[in-house]
Amino acid sequence: MTKYPVNKIILFSSVDGPGNRTVIFLQGCNFDCKYCHNPETRSLCTGCGLCVAKCPAGALKKEEKEGITRVIFSPGKCVGCDTCIHTCPHDASPRIRYMTAAEAFETVKKQMPYIRGVTVSGGECTLYPAFIRELFALCKEASLSTFIDSNGTYDFASDPELMEVTDSVMLDIKAFSEKDHLAVTACGNKKVLENALFLAERGKLFEVRTVVVPTLYDAEGAILETGKLLRDYAGEVRYKIIAYRPMGVREEYSHYPVPEDAVLQGYAESLRKMGWCDIVII
Ligand code: SF4
Ligand code: SF4
Repeated sequence: MTKYPVNKIILFSSVDGPGNRTVIFLQGCNFDCKYCHNPETRSLCTGCGLCVAKCPAGALKKEEKEGITRVIFSPGKCVGCDTCIHTCPHDASPRIRYMTAAEAFETVKKQMPYIRGVTVSGGECTLYPAFIRELFALCKEASLSTFIDSNGTYDFASDPELMEVTDSVMLDIKAFSEKDHLAVTACGNKKVLENALFLAERGKLFEVRTVVVPTLYDAEGAILETGKLLRDYAGEVRYKIIAYRPMGVREEYSHYPVPEDAVLQGYAESLRKMGWCDIVII
């Protein structure tokens, strides 16, 4: 059985979809968002070993096997100081676990009396569609709801098996124009906007989210254009407007100003005028 890189599992969350949910964060991302607040989820460990010597608790050690160098993590020794994360020059973490979907579901199963469903997030979880398909099939057998938190680059239309077991998707709209999207993420967004419509038409778009980062890109344009694109679904889909905050952001991108609440309220008001009713500002 294939094992997949799991950054962490949060047993109970009330902010990753409806109700109380277990959230599984997969490691690795195909975007390079300037405002990423958990950049240590972006890449897989190269085994360079730089963090091993810095760990104050001896929780990391290097191992050579069949010519491949890996870092072995001992969770029981870890004191949670995050020195390894701050040391890593590759936006990786030595603390991830490789798990099969069935193993991840074993963790989910223990929370079943207390949760409404499961959300898979990242990094970008859709880099591992086989993991999600298998995990969600198990969730469905257990009558748990299944949500994906995605940057929208996966071709959802090409994967009916995944759509079958996925209840809904929370989709990032990181910018609307291709130029802005490239500036924010280093990737284009044609597929993201196609996915927004594809998912909304099928009743599988739970929310869209836009992070407002003054001076980085045209956030107002992104929100208004997204609002217009999805206007037919404005009564069903939530719009989450998120204020940029520098916590956890890489130092070179931590200088953007935090947007004023009045500005965010103004964006929400414009959406309301278009017919959007479920708008959350955080
Ligand atoms: S967080 Fe990282 S550096 Fe700190 S004790 Fe744990 S493994 Fe070591
Ligand atoms: S987590 Fe980063 S610093 Fe540590 S071994 Fe892996 S790539 Fe190197």
